[in-house]
Amino acid sequence: MITCCICNKKIGRNDQQHIFSNKYSQLVICAKCNGAKENLGVNSEGKIEEIQRSRKYFEELLYIGIVNKAAREPLQALLKEAENAEKESIRYRYRNRELLVTTGNSFEGYRITEYLDVLSAEVVLNIGMFSELGGEICDISGKANNIVAQKLSDAKEEALELLKNKASEKCAGALLGVQYSMLNLVENMLVISATGTAVRIQKEA
Ligand SMILES: [Zn+2]
Repeated sequence: MITCCICNKKIGRNDQQHIFSNKYSQLVICAKCNGAKENLGVNSEGKIEEIQRSRKYFEELLYIGIVNKAAREPLQALLKEAENAEKESIRYRYRNRELLVTTGNSFEGYRITEYLDVLSAEVVLNIGMFSELGGEICDISGKANNIVAQKLSDAKEEALELLKNKASEKCAGALLGVQYSMLNLVENMLVISATGTAVRIQKEA
């Protein structure tokens, strides 16, 4: 019986197995630990809470001494990196907070000093996941309708967040004329795109 070298849980024959990393391919980990590990990277969407939650999860396992001896050191090294990833992600969020966003083409009280670029950001939504709802979508039943609406709304939010990151990387102060568009790429694949013009602005005296 194989056990996860981080959380020590049994990995059944039908459960997914992962390796800690290419370098530590002998260390087998479970799907849950792998998921938590994947959350530890720099997150340009500023999902800082996910990094924090995963760090806490691993730190607790280390603390209670359940982690396999061979996995301890690589895990500690990973957590060290995650600390930096968390800081980097906080920086992203902080920068985005400074950014003004509008669907219009100006801000009251600000003067546009430079037009930088027209930017776009895309998120691909797999609507195949709605297939279990089957005909319900056609009926636009309340429940199915709500799920679809929520997924679309999340995807739009994510696209906007990506767009804001791109604008921040260009040191823009604002995004003007922000719009969303949707494209049916192939069957079951929807592309949600957010576009806007990145500009530098100055507060009017
Ligand atoms: Zn595990």
